[in-house]
Amino acid sequence: MKTTERSTARRPRAGEVRLEGQPVSSGVAIGHAAIAHDPDPPPIDTTRRDCDPAHERARLHEAITRSTAQLRRLHDRLALLPEDGQVEIGSLLEVYRRMLGPSRLRRGIEARLGHGMLAEAAVQLETEALAAFMLSPPGRPAPEGEDAVAARRRAGEFREIGRRLVRNLSGTPYRSFSAIPDGAILVAEQLRPADAALIDPSRIAAVVTEEGGSTGHTAILLRALGIPAVLATHGLLARIGRRTRLVVDGTTGQVILRPSTRTAAAARVAVAAYARERQALGRLRRLPARLSSGEVLTLQANLEIPAELPMIAQSGAAGIGLLRSEFLFMNAGTLPDEARQESLYRPLIEAMSGDPVTIRVVDWGSEKNSDALAQAGIGAGSDVNPALGVRGIRLLLRHRALLETQFAAILRAATAGPVRVLLPMVSSPAELHAAREVYARVGRRLRRKGVDIPDPLPPLGIMIETPAAALMADVLAQEAEFLAIGTNDLTMYTLAADRAATDVAGLYDPLHPAVLRLVRLAADAGLRQRRPVSLCGEMASDPLAVPLMVGLGVRSFSMHASAVPHVKRAVRAAAMDDCRRMACRALEAADGPEVSAMLMAYAATLRHAGDG
Ligand code: PEP
Ligand code: MG
Repeated sequence: MKTTERSTARRPRAGEVRLEGQPVSSGVAIGHAAIAHDPDPPPIDTTRRDCDPAHERARLHEAITRSTAQLRRLHDRLALLPEDGQVEIGSLLEVYRRMLGPSRLRRGIEARLGHGMLAEAAVQLETEALAAFMLSPPGRPAPEGEDAVAARRRAGEFREIGRRLVRNLSGTPYRSFSAIPDGAILVAEQLRPADAALIDPSRIAAVVTEEGGSTGHTAILLRALGIPAVLATHGLLARIGRRTRLVVDGTTGQVILRPSTRTAAAARVAVAAYARERQALGRLRRLPARLSSGEVLTLQANLEIPAELPMIAQSGAAGIGLLRSEFLFMNAGTLPDEARQESLYRPLIEAMSGDPVTIRVVDWGSEKNSDALAQAGIGAGSDVNPALGVRGIRLLLRHRALLETQFAAILRAATAGPVRVLLPMVSSPAELHAAREVYARVGRRLRRKGVDIPDPLPPLGIMIETPAAALMADVLAQEAEFLAIGTNDLTMYTLAADRAATDVAGLYDPLHPAVLRLVRLAADAGLRQRRPVSLCGEMASDPLAVPLMVGLGVRSFSMHASAVPHVKRAVRAAAMDDCRRMACRALEAADGPEVSAMLMAYAATLRHAGDG
């Protein structure tokens, strides 16, 4: 397969053209397009049933052997990639390798060969059937939200391994990126995840594709490799001609074809500014989160899915401040048992190499839900107003076996490194008390069985996500060993504005003084009872809001990994006196916009003072 500058059938129009795609990996690049095509394999006859099963089986096995060898070669190239790319691509290659082994996919293909099908047809039909099953499991509602994202990814994995087998069966070669000139922008109709393993990030300036989305493996891989990328840029290929010059903005999703002299000059300035910004943020990674007045804060990362781990490692986060364990139950047909849960927690704890990991037991109910739990008869009972119904700790205390299994798995995994256990959606001391009894009982049971678990048990803390918990924080802090303020839900419940509803989005404002007063109460309670307090809602990712939270008494924050350097920069520029002054004014403000204006004015006085 060749990689060429392609002239399209339609003569491209001269002059600058601006297209919008999905921004998936930030950074700006300017360069010439190098268009990569994959030759199509010949059409497959899926109707034949007269093939010799033994012959087709032999062909299939040969294609599997060849595919396995190709994956091994891709694996061997991993050492050339940046560390986070290695982890992401390595685990994807492992998924493919397992599919080629004694898998459900293999069994399905072989069964079809038994009916006299051509090997190519058996592979195509079986991988398509498994992908369709993932996307809409029969007898169950189609996955939504995060589950739908994971289902699409899994379906993509089946299709990808199917395409590889069909190529090897039909002898159709893969594209190679080796002919792409240095500094070119790779343009393709679609980029498969395995292609990312072939991309040398030091040679390719950016990637733009006509198809794809921001949540698939390809997007994750491109982010891991740090290549500016825009996917799903509709109309791209039809407009590109030979030697087309492009500007790609992976932050906004803008792709500019044939930039004018002025646009190109502006893009060059943006490229240089982005490089300086990355360097400055990179330097921050090893620096402490110290205010300009000397006080040191703790900045940690939130983890929703294990794939975020490499990003967390890169971010300079001092541990995981909120591990949302919901991923264990997503896409699961059955409830994961104790051993399975432990096997998922342990590598995450080990990967943090001694930095603490706070694991929150599952917070189902409200807008979050799981097939596995529904099938096990564990559902949020009330559909009148799910956010005010059985969710978080309420659900777990009604289904104690679920809570016990989670506690046991966490305790077993806790020998791998420092762990804390967090309870979601607590609204009364009785809930904490009941959960603590279960926790202690699980600990005693494991010890009796001779299982190695930490002694004393890891700290058990609570989320402050309801106004009740914030108002009662001093009482709760007598029994909770730490407090984690969840401003996402705290804002929703305080302002009676659903966090997911667009029609009240204007009312949902974490900077509303009512929310700030509750944060202050929780922070004060922690201080008085000598309990650590952290803040792990989205607000912790906002470099403008964090100095204000510091002024309210919070010293530890957990945020999306990519926000860590930005927040650190803001923190290093801020002085404690200013933070406290802002907090006093914010608590007396009339509304959120007034607070927001004050924060912006403060940030303007400090911009970039914290670099270096
Ligand atoms: C919160 O409510 O602020 C929080 C961190 O929990 P989640 O967003 O998972 O509900
Ligand atoms: Mg919450």
